[in-house]
Amino acid sequence: METKSDNQNAGWTKLHLPLCALLVFFSGTFLKANGQELKIVKSGHHSFEVPASYLEERENIPSFWLTTIEEVSDFLYHTVRKGRIKVIGTSAGGRPVRAIFYGKPRAEEGTTTFSGSLGFRDVKAYRGPDHDKTVYLGLAAVHGGEFEGIVGMVNLISVIETGQDLRGKEWPEINKIMEQIDRLILIPMVNPDGRARIPLRMEAYQETDHTVHEFLNTGGNPDGTIIGWPQIKEFIPLDFGKPGFPGGYPNDAGVNIQHDNFFGTLQPETQALFDLAERERPDLVINMHTGAVYMNLHRPFSEPVLKPAFNSLYKYVHSKLASEGLQYTKNTETETNPERAPQSVFNLDGALNLHCGALSVVVESPSHSFSGKTKNGKTAVHTPEMLLDAQLICHQEAMRFLAESGGRSKWTPAPKR
Ligand SMILES: [Zn+2]
Repeated sequence: METKSDNQNAGWTKLHLPLCALLVFFSGTFLKANGQELKIVKSGHHSFEVPASYLEERENIPSFWLTTIEEVSDFLYHTVRKGRIKVIGTSAGGRPVRAIFYGKPRAEEGTTTFSGSLGFRDVKAYRGPDHDKTVYLGLAAVHGGEFEGIVGMVNLISVIETGQDLRGKEWPEINKIMEQIDRLILIPMVNPDGRARIPLRMEAYQETDHTVHEFLNTGGNPDGTIIGWPQIKEFIPLDFGKPGFPGGYPNDAGVNIQHDNFFGTLQPETQALFDLAERERPDLVINMHTGAVYMNLHRPFSEPVLKPAFNSLYKYVHSKLASEGLQYTKNTETETNPERAPQSVFNLDGALNLHCGALSVVVESPSHSFSGKTKNGKTAVHTPEMLLDAQLICHQEAMRFLAESGGRSKWTPAPKR
């Protein structure tokens, strides 16, 4: 059937292909009846209309701001010497998902499943003989339009490899804490399909207007209005054949990986994460997102026994953010109260927890594209430098928490028998 229709359309294709190429290559933009200037964004087999003004690149992009697939892979292959780069999977759209590994993996497997180890009341039986090794897993860009986590991950790798972030700022604490954990795995772009759908290095700054960022991240209608959050989650997988721009949320199969069908057929990106989690049995997963006024950890839907570990992690990260001026106030007592953490629904982090026992936590960053407002109407402006500082502080303090608390084997020790 396909061959026949291809043949039938061959003449059409020959005739029209140069015209299509002209449209994309020369003009790239066209006017709609209402006078709105639109651009065509191609993604896989689909084309989407996006208001041209939404795709204006930021002026004076800082040199540390590396976020595109090409920029990140160039950076990795030029910089990573101490670590190892490995392709851990291929996205639905055929793009490599890369992880960078530091330190030694757990040497041996355990004797039972994670669930079995809970029944046995000793996670050692799942985690294996070197159960007390500490393993940290960092994820960024599960949502492809959330660039801050990618910038943070790239600069964290720079600190580990060279002692400095890409601004030349040193982070001696990160290098010191690195020595105290056994294994570090960083995935700068979990969802390259979603990232590829947004043809920008950095969005223009829109003051307090989040329309452009949300359009690009969670999708929008042909007239430039946003679909909105959480409405975008009503349809998974999203039908790319419908009008509108799907944003950077889903992979090329239309699935938002944060809300995959975890007990059914997994998307390749989720499968790659699950396989990695099974091999490495991480203690702590930090899952970087964008969508907060000030950086904020969300309480995961996970085993209740992990509540004290989450509360402690929250205090580590939020107290340092507060003292560095990256919270609402510098009052570390109020800013570090873990009861303020929003409660997540069941999602990728809950699934990772139940898969391998890790405490897996979403961290929401403020956006480079717009500023949020505090309750008293104050605009919470974050410069790109502040956004990067928050990312690196979060990784630093989360790693410190892991090193000092000793990881899952210490958080839930087996009862004396
Ligand atoms: Zn997100």
